[in-house]
Amino acid sequence: VRFVNVQKTYDSERLVVRNLSLNIARGEFLTLLGPSGSGKTTTLMMLAGFEPATHGEILLNGKSINRVPPDKRGIGMVFQNYALFPHMTVAENLAFPLQVRSMSKVEIKKRVNAALEMVELETLGNRRPAQLSGGQQQRVAVARALIFEPELVLMDEPLGALDKRLREQMQYEIKSLHDRLGVTIVYVTHDQSEALTMSDRVAVFNDGEIQQLSRPADLYEKPATAFVADFIGENN
Ligand code: ATP
Repeated sequence: VRFVNVQKTYDSERLVVRNLSLNIARGEFLTLLGPSGSGKTTTLMMLAGFEPATHGEILLNGKSINRVPPDKRGIGMVFQNYALFPHMTVAENLAFPLQVRSMSKVEIKKRVNAALEMVELETLGNRRPAQLSGGQQQRVAVARALIFEPELVLMDEPLGALDKRLREQMQYEIKSLHDRLGVTIVYVTHDQSEALTMSDRVAVFNDGEIQQLSRPADLYEKPATAFVADFIGENN
């Protein structure tokens, strides 16, 4: 993934993302970390294709995707509020995006089973979301993001609604899934320790700009700005 001089304004008054240039390596776990309103979600939405960039270019595998619609970008997504269909079972929730693409029944069944296995929910395929714990629901959301076998998965505060113990368990599960599948993950959080424990690299955002992009250890050993030092220090 490459961002080249990407800018974003919603109302032409204020730059929400300023001149962002960023390279994300294949298979990398990159986290966008920063305070509320710093432009993390907007950056993710531009990569997903839900928000157009006001200026600049976003490339995937060397090709500009500025004009490629979201469903043609081959990107999986996980959000904080799972967005599972309440009236469908877990298996139906996973099958739905495949049915929309008119895939064969045999192929759908194969993919759904593989996805359930991946997140260790093989036995719960017939339950509805309301009959699952928060952590299990989030695992279904992760499985659904992987159902098209994407090379790139975007996660926006996926664990924000979970309690501390479950959050730590899910951090571990997402990280090991990443290591196993070799998929590229761009992850958004405002939680410093979450970013530091999960990521290969962290981009610290403030006011629409990356203040520092480096390996987790360098953020507290060699903070590039006073903002980074303060922000990383806050919860550690
Ligand atoms: P949070 O952690 O709270 O989600 P964030 O770092 O993800 O914050 P963004 O959601 O990208 O930040 O928001 C950046 C700025 O853009 C904020 O000032 C926000 O109010 C503004 N903004 C976001 N979405 C819109 C929109 N659809 N229309 C107008 N302004 C928006």
